[in-house]
Amino acid sequence: MNKVLSIPAASTFHLIKKYHIHAFPHPRSYDYSYLVTFRKKGGIMEELYKVEKAVRLNMEDEFIYDKIQHFDNSIQNRIKNYIIERKKDFVFEKPDFMFWVLKKEDSLLHEPQTTKPYNNHVYFNYQELHSGKKHVNIASKEENNHVSYISEFSLQLKGITKEEIIETEKEQIIKSRVGQSAFKKALLAIEKKCGLCGVSDERFLISSHIKTWSQSNNQERLDVNNGLLLCPNHDALFDKGYISFADDGTILISDNLDEATKVFLNINETMNIRMNEDQRQYMKWHREKILKI
Ligand SMILES: [Zn+2]
Repeated sequence: MNKVLSIPAASTFHLIKKYHIHAFPHPRSYDYSYLVTFRKKGGIMEELYKVEKAVRLNMEDEFIYDKIQHFDNSIQNRIKNYIIERKKDFVFEKPDFMFWVLKKEDSLLHEPQTTKPYNNHVYFNYQELHSGKKHVNIASKEENNHVSYISEFSLQLKGITKEEIIETEKEQIIKSRVGQSAFKKALLAIEKKCGLCGVSDERFLISSHIKTWSQSNNQERLDVNNGLLLCPNHDALFDKGYISFADDGTILISDNLDEATKVFLNINETMNIRMNEDQRQYMKWHREKILKI
């Protein structure tokens, strides 16, 4: 837990300090599960923050403030004022923006700065930033993409599960609002095509949970090992329990399907998928609870 994400924010630096809000075009591959700091001109850093909440807003949405109604009034006002003030100086470059609600954790009184200019986000070690050195060395530039997508997904999920709504509604809201997009991106970083056939066009790939969403706890919902990337055809078969997989990855086909249907739906007994040990555990659940024998 000693990694700090450092984001260049020259032109919005004063807004971040004033409102403790940071907004950026979505998506970005940040891993913000730890602390965040922002750099003003000269690569100088002053404060450390935690990301408390995240909300994705469409800047062209007429009812944009409806989307933040579930936040405290003070947070709503901070976001509103940030938007108003930012619009005075410069535009939101595109409609799709992610807003972070920040909580200040710490000041960097000696105002450390990067050894040379960086246009992108980088990571520092917490100890390095607090060492008192004026010029600090970066620890790394890029993080594994699927890790950052999962932390984004995790934060969105956390925000929604805290809202006071009934469970069944919650599931629907999470599915539509989050759209499982971050989960899908995480899976795409690992697998590139349908696990059973050649479909690789991302627009037609679906990220399924092996252990059903509604039966999973939040940790299982975020676990990429609980995911399977399939084309719409194979996803429907898997989701409805007409196919599942044995421990060695061999396909198991429900007896409820006749031979012609199997041919037309592109499944046959020789098919198999690759699974790791964690996926195997989830698949056992699917086999026992979902597969129609
Ligand atoms: Zn397929």
